[in-house]
Amino acid sequence: MLKRELGSKFIGAHVSAAGGVDQAPLRASEIGANAFALFTKNQRQWAAKPLEPKIIQAFKANCKRLGFDAGQILPHDSYLINLGAPEDDKLEKSRAAFIDEMKRCHLLGLTLLNFHPGSHLKKISEQDCLSRIAESINLAHNAVPEVIAVIENTAGQGTNLGWRFEHLAQIIDQVEDKSRVGVCIDTCHTFAAGYDLRDFDACDATFAEFDRIVGMHYLRAMHINDSKVALGGKVDRHHALGKGEIGWDCFEYISKDPRFDGIPLILETIEPDLWPQEIQSMRQFHLQSIADSTS
Ligand SMILES: [Zn+2]
Ligand SMILES: [Zn+2]
Repeated sequence: MLKRELGSKFIGAHVSAAGGVDQAPLRASEIGANAFALFTKNQRQWAAKPLEPKIIQAFKANCKRLGFDAGQILPHDSYLINLGAPEDDKLEKSRAAFIDEMKRCHLLGLTLLNFHPGSHLKKISEQDCLSRIAESINLAHNAVPEVIAVIENTAGQGTNLGWRFEHLAQIIDQVEDKSRVGVCIDTCHTFAAGYDLRDFDACDATFAEFDRIVGMHYLRAMHINDSKVALGGKVDRHHALGKGEIGWDCFEYISKDPRFDGIPLILETIEPDLWPQEIQSMRQFHLQSIADSTS
């Protein structure tokens, strides 16, 4: 068993940045989190005014004071962006917006940017769409230094790609700088896409498959959500931990397994009032696993 640090599990939630991104670390700290996700601009609008220097400074100061390093923070891009868009004008607009998101992260001193891969909208082939997504990442890498593009797996709703582990592997395969691409596995999306997570054996099998097809070393973050939808339902509906179709075994498994140490584990569950409790429960499992491994 690996020797593990008590603080090695980064557990938090996607918190509001209302009133300024500098408010997000305060909200994360209030719920007992040592990780958080945020939008650095309004996620439902294309345009955003540039981040003001005083907000950037306040964000950095709050993160430092409350103990959040860049590796514990997972910004999420706008929902409007489609990096695999079939139409050239939409693709161009998406790529420009994504580069802007990446620049905002870089200005904030952040190193991860979480995004949904893209949709073919039945106008181009899956292969073509995956290639466009990879090329979008390459362009962003050339435009902005340091920030890692973290591809989120999807539930497979509509024409969204990224629900099969093979999609993620095919995108990564076409990215030139492999040191700056990674994956965020969302447990709800994984389950809705058809990968079972309902008990420890199912988790073993699903993460073994992920390792075989993508590689565990590409895992840079996770979204921790239960699912309202049954296995393979291909619909993205989050639920509070233990209240959905997945159940607590999966979240106990992730909390205890050192392969999920050192990366942001982010709740996007539907009852924010429960976040402190959900974080506490996961931390309890983590502490228990450390106690078990040293006794
Ligand atoms: Zn997402
Ligand atoms: Zn989702």
